[in-house]
Amino acid sequence: MATYTYEADVVIAGAGLAGIVTAYELMDHGKRVLLVDKDKPEKLGGLAKESFGGVHMIDTPLQRLARIRDSPELAWNDWRECARFGPDDHWPKAWAKLYCESSAEYIWDFLTRKKVRFLPIVNWVERGLYRPYNTVPRWHVTWGTGWEIVFRIVSALDAHPNRRNLEILFEHEVNAIETSAGRAIAFAGRRMVDGSPYRARGEHLVIASGGICGGDLSKLRENWYRPWGPPPQVILNGAHDYGDGLLHDRVKELGGSLTHMDKHWHYPAGVHKPGGRRPNDGISLVPPRSALWMNAKGERIGPTPLVSYTDTRFLVEQICRQPGQYSWQILNRKIALKELGVSGCDYMTAFRYKNRLLLAKQLIRGNRELVDRLIAECPDDIVVASSLSELVDKMNERGLYGFKVDRKAVEYYVTEYDNQIDRGPGYYNDDQLRRITVYMNYRGDKVRTCSFQKILDPKAMPLIAIREFILARKSLGGIQTDLQGRVLKTDGTPIEGLRAVGESAGFGGGGIHGLGSLEGTFLGACVLTGRVTAKAIAGTNVRSA
Ligand SMILES: Cc1cc2nc3c(=O)[nH]c(=O)nc-3n(C[C@H](O)[C@H](O)[C@H](O)COP(=O)(O)OP(=O)(O)OC[C@H]3O[C@@H](n4cnc5c(N)ncnc54)[C@H](O)[C@@H]3O)c2cc1C
Repeated sequence: MATYTYEADVVIAGAGLAGIVTAYELMDHGKRVLLVDKDKPEKLGGLAKESFGGVHMIDTPLQRLARIRDSPELAWNDWRECARFGPDDHWPKAWAKLYCESSAEYIWDFLTRKKVRFLPIVNWVERGLYRPYNTVPRWHVTWGTGWEIVFRIVSALDAHPNRRNLEILFEHEVNAIETSAGRAIAFAGRRMVDGSPYRARGEHLVIASGGICGGDLSKLRENWYRPWGPPPQVILNGAHDYGDGLLHDRVKELGGSLTHMDKHWHYPAGVHKPGGRRPNDGISLVPPRSALWMNAKGERIGPTPLVSYTDTRFLVEQICRQPGQYSWQILNRKIALKELGVSGCDYMTAFRYKNRLLLAKQLIRGNRELVDRLIAECPDDIVVASSLSELVDKMNERGLYGFKVDRKAVEYYVTEYDNQIDRGPGYYNDDQLRRITVYMNYRGDKVRTCSFQKILDPKAMPLIAIREFILARKSLGGIQTDLQGRVLKTDGTPIEGLRAVGESAGFGGGGIHGLGSLEGTFLGACVLTGRVTAKAIAGTNVRSA
């Protein structure tokens, strides 16, 4: 079989957000770029195209307009609090600091110049449980979701005055990195259509192939974070089909350093994806804050009740420690209409299609379209009933590994919670109600939180229970890189000619997030690592730390 050959100044393996941003920046510097991706043309942009499009940025015009006083110093404090970096985390810290110091220049300016627009209300996610994470709101919601981010960047690539310098190969798997005298000189692999080999030679090679949380999840299970105990039997896949760590392995074989491979960013409320390609494909629900979160036996998880928008890692860890390692959320239709959401663009149609009227309607009347669709499409994970007894019966038809929810326990927790609400705010001694009280004080939360909603309120019926699984999404660790994006060996010296960006590089330095993310830092760090690395390749703005 003949080997196809290609050549460019820079060859990039992976055309997700990190890959296309790197390509754009290189084209700005007059480089000839070859983007090679295993996936089909309609998937150009990778996971970012499916994402909700929340971007973490610091001291932006939108924050200032809303009188949110933010600064790189405050953000850096928050980042460290959440990341809990270790003494060896030199490069992760260097990248994280750079993010905090220059998100306005590297991310905000880049995206807004491509005509990406954000909603005026900055969301306040991941604010921490008892220690402050995001001290102030920083999650900027893209009007049009992540789909729009990709659309705008791809449009900018197409309209670029140097467009002739860019070639994109789809359905080409990269499965080898060729070296000569210690320098990486070419990617090699096979064409998916006919299996024929190809070779793509470049002066610089950039790995942008994403994380290891996708594929058949075997890499994730191998690298499971052991302090949480064994991985759950059911983990839903919310990442990329090709996120199998193939190129991470190749880097390791070359002596490259992979760090923090056991750190991941999972979500606690995954349900099976309707029409998913594989049985464990999942979608990640935004867990309603007014729902009661219970384990497989129907016990309310505690003593600290689980409430979203605080500390996602804490939620995931608690569920991993429960019997069965899956959970139930109990709520009613009124709560679902106001608070239920899906992380991603597919279900959030008002955002995805930039429909202001629909968004206004959903904020006033609730998102009926979404709730009805989820109920209809997820019958295995979402049950509806007109009484608690009927709800428990339906939950028990869906118990796994022999677990059944205890009817009396469910009744007790629901009634106890409702009784507290009846007594009035002056008597709220339940941590969930206390947190909801605080949520009601921020505009961005108030519009999407029920005002102390009882579960058994006859006016809020029917009841709903959602069976939720851990959903794997993002790899926090990866290929270790310096501030020029150069892939480092275990002795700290670079592999000449080889760089890594985006999720493959643990979003920078092999673990920019440390133990946890402030959210929205994934898309942001793809833009940051892509731009900084491209500039370093072009010889402008070469950074060191
Ligand atoms: C539903 C959803 C919602 C999300 N919401 C948000 C959000 O609101 N905010 C946020 O910050 N983040 C969010 N994320 C995460 C974010 O989208 C990703 O972390 C980010 O887009 C990763 O970009 P990447 O370019 O590094 O990798 P990817 O998007 O995974 O792209 C990697 C590319 O490399 C290709 N590839 C892989 N292996 C090979 C190979 N061997 N050969 C050739 N090509 C290969 C793949 O086909 C793919 O195109 C979300 C993710 C999902 C799935």
